[in-house]
Amino acid sequence: MSETGSANIGVVGLAVMGSNLARNLASREGNTVAVYNRSPERTRLLTDEHPEAGFVASETIEDFVASLKTPRTAIIMVQAGKGTDAVISQLTELFEPGDIIVDGGNALFTDTLRREKAVRETGINFVGAGISGGEEGALKGPSIMPGGSAEAYVTLGPILESIAAVVDGVPCVTHVGTDGAGHFVKMIHNGIEYADMQLIAEAYDLLRAAAGYSPAEIAEIFSQWNAGELESYLIEITAEVLKQIDADTGAPLVDVILDEAGSKGTGVWTVQTALDLGIPVSGIAEAVFARSLSSKPAQRQASVGLPGPSTAWSVSDKAAFVEDVRLALYASKIIAYSQGFDAIVAGAEQYNWNINKGDIAKIWRGGCIIRAQFLNRITEAYAENPGLVALVTAPYFTDAVATAQDSWRRVVSGAALAGIPTPAFSSSLAYYDGLRAKRLPAALVQGQRDFFGAHTYKRTDKEGTFHTLWSGDRTEIATEGSSH
Ligand code: NAP
Repeated sequence: MSETGSANIGVVGLAVMGSNLARNLASREGNTVAVYNRSPERTRLLTDEHPEAGFVASETIEDFVASLKTPRTAIIMVQAGKGTDAVISQLTELFEPGDIIVDGGNALFTDTLRREKAVRETGINFVGAGISGGEEGALKGPSIMPGGSAEAYVTLGPILESIAAVVDGVPCVTHVGTDGAGHFVKMIHNGIEYADMQLIAEAYDLLRAAAGYSPAEIAEIFSQWNAGELESYLIEITAEVLKQIDADTGAPLVDVILDEAGSKGTGVWTVQTALDLGIPVSGIAEAVFARSLSSKPAQRQASVGLPGPSTAWSVSDKAAFVEDVRLALYASKIIAYSQGFDAIVAGAEQYNWNINKGDIAKIWRGGCIIRAQFLNRITEAYAENPGLVALVTAPYFTDAVATAQDSWRRVVSGAALAGIPTPAFSSSLAYYDGLRAKRLPAALVQGQRDFFGAHTYKRTDKEGTFHTLWSGDRTEIATEGSSH
């Protein structure tokens, strides 16, 4: 197939995400958009409802491919998994070397690695692109995290830049790295989103349980916080959710919603991947576990009578308490992002991606769920020191945590005494204290491991690897490289 059509970009899969992305593309100058969906009814619905878009619509994949200019570029927006594989296989049959297949769905990055390798062998480019921002983002401007080859990005980059969210004149898209880098970074984005949401929920719970504020009052507090360093989309929408009154009962809607949090899996992927990479992402993990715990109604019901502390938290200075919670939230959030960026660094090392961390923070400033002014500080920190060993060690963040830490400790200890669960706040503080400790009890763990498993240990005062003869005369022997 070598004849070329008129569209510079095509979209396959016209459910809500694909339709919105196609409309977004069509609304930008210079784009002519080809559209195709397995069931033609969806294609007809889209073209009937949006004649202004000037879509080039096809009812067969062959006609769709023929309607594309070379290098043909098609974005797949179908159900992740088998649907994506099916469409890739159809397009690979019909595309030619140099053409570009983009998977804009929520793929697991290891699937993207596999697909990229297989498609590359045909000479066709395959780009896994994380697209964040949900339906509205797809329509109005998402944050886009494309991987794939630099060659593909030459054609694809300007098209994606035309539809991405824009902050301070900068489109929220960058070539993240090769093959699966884009979907990897999108996965970490979602993991951080889990942590951010859980931390906000814990702040709400503390304000309610310890200080007795109503949802409407907490909405007001969050609105005020949104004018400061916590400014973010998630804080803004939290205030909106808390203001909402249920039409049926007249109660705050948050009190009527069943307290069992769902998830679609990207948080779990982040934690599984971080475990494999050996990176503690405790804030994200606690957020995932908190959703799991909430979704165990039988266990929770059976546990309702378990004894708790004998005294409740009686907050005397409410204004000071609100400020403590704000600072605890900010410090915990810094830790969650620091851990997320650690996972990006480790992933880049493992998979040979050259990821610019500052650019990642920059493209998350708009379009996506974790968008926030705060991300500018991350970009600045990596611009100042691209080799930063942990985000929290950048001067701006170290100062921020230093300012927050007394409040953070009061909140976490108070919550523990009062029996208010704050898994993400608490684990973030424990991580911070672990990071800054001069010496950790890991020395004892090494001793235990050597005792029962002869796993050996290293010493602080000399080179080499050692084992103690625990069941014998308890002398130490050097197992390798010692200067004995
Ligand atoms: P979806 O419900 O995930 O998938 C429905 C679409 O997939 C339909 O167009 C369907 O075609 C097509 N499809 C399924 N199996 C297929 C197959 N074997 N061959 C060809 N087409 C097939 O759609 P969506 O909600 O719009 O999501 C699209 C992608 O975006 C997914 O990967 C999803 O995970 C991701 N997503 C991202 C966000 C975000 O915020 N970034 C939000 C939502 C979704 P038919 O009409 O013929 O059935």
